[in-house]
Amino acid sequence: MATWQCIKQCGACCNLDPAERPDIEEYLSAAELEIYFSMVGEGGWCVNFDHTTRECRIYPNRPRFCRVETEIFQDMYGIEPEDLDDFAIDCCRQQIEGVYGDRSLEMLRFDKAVGL
Ligand code: SF4
Ligand code: SF4
Repeated sequence: MATWQCIKQCGACCNLDPAERPDIEEYLSAAELEIYFSMVGEGGWCVNFDHTTRECRIYPNRPRFCRVETEIFQDMYGIEPEDLDDFAIDCCRQQIEGVYGDRSLEMLRFDKAVGL
């Protein structure tokens, strides 16, 4: 069974382009939407994303919706804990495909890391 993990030097999910996330209003509260939109910078990239290191500059304080955690995913998307791995893997693959492409190094590294 594939197990979700975040790979280093990716950051695909830190591209927040609202055009690529049409359902966003369904799973974020009004307050969270305000935070989300305030973070959208050039090219859709989060203003907190460091393009050199490809890391989050505010990682310990990142918003709830940036966290892959059982309780948060249950609350935001109605995903049961046993389905979290598959769901999170799909989310990452979608983001990686949209940002870097489905044959990108990031996709290859991700698939290998999660055991696909
Ligand atoms: S898309 Fe997935 S693997 Fe890439 S940075 Fe985000 S959580 Fe990590
Ligand atoms: S706050 Fe950090 S983890 Fe969240 S989208 Fe921005 S750079 Fe990525």
